[in-house]
Amino acid sequence: MDPVTEPEVVRHDTRLDRYVGHYAARTHGMRASAVRALFAVANRPEVVSLAGGMPNIADLPLDVVGDAIRDLVLEHGTQAMQYGSGQGEPALRERICEVMSLEGINAHPDDVTITVGSQQGLDLVTRIFCDPGDVIVAEAPSYVGALGTFASYQTQVVHVAMDDDGIEPDALRAAVEAARAAGRKPKFLYTIPNFNNPSGISQSLERRRQVIRTCRDLDLLIVEDNPYGLLRLEGDPLPALRAMDADQVIYLGSFSKTFAPGFRVGWVLAPHAVREKLVLAQESATLCPPVFSQLAVASYLDRHDWRGQIEAFKDMYRARRDAMLEALREYMPPGTTWTTPGGGFFVWVTLPDGLDAQAMLPRAVNARVAFTPGTAFYADGLGSRNMRLSFCYPTPERIREGVRRLADVVNREYEVHRTFGLSADEAPHRQLDTFDAPAPDLS
Ligand code: PMP
Repeated sequence: MDPVTEPEVVRHDTRLDRYVGHYAARTHGMRASAVRALFAVANRPEVVSLAGGMPNIADLPLDVVGDAIRDLVLEHGTQAMQYGSGQGEPALRERICEVMSLEGINAHPDDVTITVGSQQGLDLVTRIFCDPGDVIVAEAPSYVGALGTFASYQTQVVHVAMDDDGIEPDALRAAVEAARAAGRKPKFLYTIPNFNNPSGISQSLERRRQVIRTCRDLDLLIVEDNPYGLLRLEGDPLPALRAMDADQVIYLGSFSKTFAPGFRVGWVLAPHAVREKLVLAQESATLCPPVFSQLAVASYLDRHDWRGQIEAFKDMYRARRDAMLEALREYMPPGTTWTTPGGGFFVWVTLPDGLDAQAMLPRAVNARVAFTPGTAFYADGLGSRNMRLSFCYPTPERIREGVRRLADVVNREYEVHRTFGLSADEAPHRQLDTFDAPAPDLS
């Protein structure tokens, strides 16, 4: 057939991927969520979703933001809509240093690189440090989006357990030493010291000191991911790891939870030499992070009482967290345990022995409640008895109703298990219809 003279053949069957043999090996670790179809159902209004991690930004002063953006276009439009610096706008980098000072960080704007959300910070840091086969040591459970990034660079994640005070330093040391003894190269520790996504666990002050000491001893870089630190619901923020050691720590920050995720503005604070590599990586990824978004965020910080706004967010999230904890106490069967987060967005539930959270998800969605199964947050298949429940988005009343529905499902499962020693999966049950799904909310 002559492709120039013959009409194009319209392909109706798009299921077969003719490029299947052409993709780079790094795509092999990229997987759609096993529960993608269920998340589409979870977004229906009759379902209480305790699954996503979307911040509730309904209380933002849209008039202030609107005025700021209007003035930005009218007064600085040609700058705001132009290319900018690969490192990010200086005015915003200065403001970011002010934000970080609330967690004890003393930084120079020159050491800050702006990123497209902290998600891009994770990508750039992995890109400049990791070759295929390198090891990343990560507390378990860990943020699913970070695990996806690490997989896309063909690294191997070695998990280290947490207790109530965060990652365990002895287990951390043992994991790094074992990896080195096996001839592998652990490149950094990935940790979320404040209100870990998904577990809600935070490092105590003493644990922070131990983690720093251990990593210094091991000569292991720390990547500190801290989107939730300012959402501490009781007391003052604890010092960031970066506040305790400027050389050992690369710090990732974000405006997604303290302002709004749609601007996609985050940042990396890194030792000077690392910062230079990050800027080169940022230039090759995007040329420059979006100038318009950066100036809009800077203008919001200039015009609005953003500290007061964070206090208002905290009041709103506190009521939601308390509603969730109270409902869990009231409705969950014996043998079920959960964390009591001091901030952030998530509670981590551990089901009684023998129950499987992922197997329970279709039944939960049938009962019009959704959660995220624990296995999403481990690179090694653990977490089957766990669920992540987010309290950030639904109202306290909906949270209460969602937990009540979920507890019904868990209770039924628990009864079946106690009576027959089976999970309800193995017993007869109604099948859930699945639907074509948009991308799940992986936040
Ligand atoms: N790190 C953690 C721990 C998160 O929970 C999230 C998003 N929920 C991110 C990074 C990415 O956030 P963003 O890109 O919006 O800054």
